[in-house]
Formats: sequence, structure tokens, C-alpha cells
Amino acid sequence: MSETITDFDVVIIGAGPAGLSLAGSLAAQGLAIALVERLPGASLTAPEFDGREIALTHSSVDILRGLGAWERIPQDVIAPLREARVLDGAGGHALSLSPSGDAGERLGHLVPNFHIRRALHDAVQSRPNIRLFTESTATGMTAASGHATLTLADGARLTARLVVAADTRFSEMRRRVGIGAAMHDFGASMLVCRMAHEEPHHEVATEWFGYGQTIAMLPLNGVAEMPHLSSLVLTLPAREIERLRTLDDAAFGAEITRRYQGRLGPMRPVSSRHVYPLVAVYAQRFVAPRFALVGDAAVGMHPVTAHGFNYGLRGQHVLAGLIAGAVANKGDIGAPALLQRYERAHRLATRPFYLATNATARLYTDDSLPARVLRDVVLRIGARLPPVRHMMVAKLMEKTTPSIGPSRVV
Ligand SMILES: Cc1cc2nc3c(=O)[nH]c(=O)nc-3n(C[C@H](O)[C@H](O)[C@H](O)COP(=O)(O)OP(=O)(O)OC[C@H]3O[C@@H](n4cnc5c(N)ncnc54)[C@H](O)[C@@H]3O)c2cc1C
Repeated sequence: MSETITDFDVVIIGAGPAGLSLAGSLAAQGLAIALVERLPGASLTAPEFDGREIALTHSSVDILRGLGAWERIPQDVIAPLREARVLDGAGGHALSLSPSGDAGERLGHLVPNFHIRRALHDAVQSRPNIRLFTESTATGMTAASGHATLTLADGARLTARLVVAADTRFSEMRRRVGIGAAMHDFGASMLVCRMAHEEPHHEVATEWFGYGQTIAMLPLNGVAEMPHLSSLVLTLPAREIERLRTLDDAAFGAEITRRYQGRLGPMRPVSSRHVYPLVAVYAQRFVAPRFALVGDAAVGMHPVTAHGFNYGLRGQHVLAGLIAGAVANKGDIGAPALLQRYERAHRLATRPFYLATNATARLYTDDSLPARVLRDVVLRIGARLPPVRHMMVAKLMEKTTPSIGPSRVV
């Protein structure tokens, strides 16, 4: 293919969860959308388990519901999260975070990433005004007055009034457009997989910042033959993680049981293991002429506070809201003022927590004596001061969804 197709309102690069969500939000407004994805179609229609169990806030669930994706996720894979516990060092001291309202209220929901991707894909596929280009890699973009042109690797050119990149935290398009990004490489990797264990988890997620390792265990729904299941998220230097990734199941189970000090009884792995490098990224700008960044391409969070996709959903929701306003007023959906409003709103919503997350991750992986003392003090303060705890819980739950509309998004 090397034709020029000119009839799009918005071209989105990347059919990950953020790109799919934005396509769904914009298609609902009747806009003509092109969604460009370098992977083959099968990876979208039947995405494979990737080890990620995504903690979704209440606001994210509302947005997914609005997109028609939430009801496509099988109920039995949505695991309730009632409490999060943070342990430090030897593990004696715990900070417990749970909702203070109705008994039975959830802190959030844990959903396998591949189910979210499949549900979003199914929801957008039912929209006739979204055209999906799979096995297509975006390679360049030019902006002119009134429109932008995206070039694909096979020479095809797509023109639209706005191009949005949702092409991973290492976004190639961000660089090509000339937007820099602050990157923080934590010098470690995360290994994620499912573990069956003997003791129940009571729907409590535990984040244990031990000395020399960080282990999170996220509660999942059990099944008949494995009633007690959790997702292991283990952070260690890359070389150690590589050794663990290739251990046989018995040795891996024994090592994780030992590392977790038998808190959930003996454990064994029951899924494939997946490894992710720990690099947090924050784009210096979120917009350029006729161009915007969403998802991890704008804000690539450290997973420790479970906010990456939650922010991706929020950002696309805000951008779609501003575009809805422009459509209603017969305005320009790629106007600089609109894009700047998106950038301001999303920066304001994400920047403080991005910095706080990085600072927390750095502090709780620093095992020097002064850091150990400070870590302990911070947890004790959090545990003893209800207002601090309530603030953390409110952030984890995020009950308010930014309203859509030209003057109501911030
Ligand atoms: C271990 C782990 C646990 C996590 N836990 C949570 C959590 O609990 N809560 C939470 O909110 N978030 C969590 N996250 C973060 C969340 O997974 C990400 O924020 C989210 O997947 C990012 O989605 P995205 O669509 O922006 O990017 P991606 O998922 O990276 O998708 C980008 C897409 O763009 C495509 N692409 C790239 N370049 C091009 C190109 N040039 N042309 C065409 N296509 C291209 C890629 O093929 C890909 O499909 C976690 C992440 C990890 C690693």
C-alpha cells in the first residue's frame, strides 16, 4: 500500500489500552478515526496473558463502562481489592490502607491487562467509523495549517486534523516530533507471574519493601483447583531477575516462598513469567502543532503506585472531552488552544504524583542506614495520622471522574 488516505479526523498511533480507549471515546462523537498498530491483528483480537494485573480506580471503571468495555470483561476475572498493606525492611511495621466508608467498599479492582485490551478492542471494533491498520508502523509526521500527515513504513500516508501518539513510554513518534522526555531508569527489573499458595489472601494487596528486594502480592480470584491465587510482582537487579525467570517451577516456587518468608504458605508458579524494565518517563511537552501524546507516551509511571493506565484513561478522557466541545461548537479539533488546555489539565493531574511515586520508589529501594531510618519514620507517620492515610486511600481509589466538556475538564 502506498496510497494517501485523507478522510480522517484523528489518526491514533498505537492500539494499546490508551490508544484503543481514545479511539472509542472519539468514535462515540461521530469522528472518523484511523488507528495504526504495528502488531498483527491477532494480538488485538486475542491478546495473550502478559503478567500484568491492573489495579483500576473507581474513576477508571466508570470510563471503561462509558466506553462499553467494562461489561465485556468476564466478571470472574475482576478481583476485588479491599485493603493495601505496605511493609518495610524486616516487615515488622505495616501501613494499612482501606476505604473508611461502607463496609465492603472496594479500594479498587484488579483486572488482567489482556482482558482489558481484549474488551477495549471488541468495543472499538463494533464502531464503523474506526479504521484499524494492523501490521502498520508509523514512521513520520508533518504538520501544516489545518491538517497533519502521518507516514507509514509501507509508504502510505494518512491525513487528519489531529495525530495522537499512544506508542509506549519509549515513543518513537514523540522523538520524531521533537519532544524530549525526562527518563528515570531505576536500574532494576520487575518479574510478574501468578502464584498459587496455601493460605488465603483475604483480598489484601501487600507491598513489601524488604532490604535488597521489593515484593508485591496482589490478590486474585481463585478457581476450583487453585482456591488461593495471587500475582507476584518482584523487583530486583536485572541479572537476578533473569536467573529467576529461567529457574524451573519447583525451584522458583521454593525461592519465592523463602523470599516472602512463607507469609502465604508454600507457593508455586501457575503462569508464564514476564519481565519489564523499570523506567519512568515524563514527556517535556504533551502537544505540538496538530499533535498530542496520550498514555505512557505522555506519562510512563513506575508501577509501584499502580497509576499508569489509570492516568492513560484519564488523559484520553480529558482530551476527548475537549474535542467534543470543539465538535459541538463546529471548531477546530486540532487547534493550539485546545491542545494547550489538554496539556495543562493532564500535567496538573499527573505531575505531582509522578514525582512523589519516583521519590517513594527511590527511598524504599535505598538500603543505606539514613534511608532505612527515614523509610521507617515515613511509614510510622502515615500509620499514625488518619488524614495522611485518608489522602493516600482517596488517591488510590480516585472516585471522581473528570467531567467531559469544553469548560469542565480541569
Ligand atoms: C508490571 C506492570 C504492572 C502495572 N500495573 C498497573 C496498575 O496496576 N495500574 C495501572 O494503572 N497501570 C499499571 N501498569 C501500567 C500500564 O500497563 C500501562 O500504563 C499501559 O499498558 C500503557 O498503555 P499504552 O496504550 O499507553 O501503551 P502500550 O501498552 O505500551 O501500547 C502501545 C502500543 O503502540 C504500538 N506502537 C508502538 N510504536 C508504534 C508505531 N511506531 N507504529 C504503530 N504502532 C506502534 C505498540 O505495538 C503497542 O501496541 C503496569 C505496568 C507494568 C509493566
